[in-house]
Amino acid sequence: SKVSRLDRFISQNSVFSLSDTRLLIAQKRIFLDGHAAYSIQQKVTEFTHVVLDGNCLKDNKPVYMMLNKPRGVVSATKDLKHSTVVDLVRHPQKNELHIVGRLDLNTTGLVLLTNDGAWSRKISLPETKLEKTYEVTLSKPLTDEYIVVFREGVYFGYENITTQPACLEILSEYTARLSLIEGKYHQVKRMFGFFQNEVLALHRVSVGHISLGGLEVGHCRQLTSSEVAIIQ
Ligand code: URA
Repeated sequence: SKVSRLDRFISQNSVFSLSDTRLLIAQKRIFLDGHAAYSIQQKVTEFTHVVLDGNCLKDNKPVYMMLNKPRGVVSATKDLKHSTVVDLVRHPQKNELHIVGRLDLNTTGLVLLTNDGAWSRKISLPETKLEKTYEVTLSKPLTDEYIVVFREGVYFGYENITTQPACLEILSEYTARLSLIEGKYHQVKRMFGFFQNEVLALHRVSVGHISLGGLEVGHCRQLTSSEVAIIQ
């Protein structure tokens, strides 16, 4: 049967990467059969009980789902106050899934969930240059100046970064479509914040070639193999 090295097992079955594993070991966050892991080279078989941050990690088949997130549902796997995106997923392995790119509580639309850590990391890396597209409703009228500023990048003082070139398409006086290749904290709201223009509604329609299509609010479905294959 299959034997894998601990760092490979962790990267295939959690949000963490091969190179994160060393730090997780140092922080005593991984246990193998009840003992703290001590090396990335430790062997994991189908019988090894691997625990990361108190959760048992299983070597499962990869699962890829999309959800049309309603307002007021939190992009987390557990929450005391609100229902979570995982609550809306219907799949026997739903509790093993992690979220690929969170949406704010009041943001709606496309959320991807998977147990394939390598896949989700590639989607989220700016170097992959995968466009995440949002429909935005603003409180003040838009101007062509926004297009130039977003293409050139907006400076975020807190992180001391300038956003990557983003493509804004103005749809009407108060609505636009914005495509980003990265996902900083509250990025869309903060980009419009540069113009003191409050975002009233934010809806993610696509991630790369994966689109919500006609999926109803609150509903989920498995990705097709060609959707999964957008990332090599
Ligand atoms: N940008 C935001 O400000 N919020 C989201 O939920 C997603 C992108």
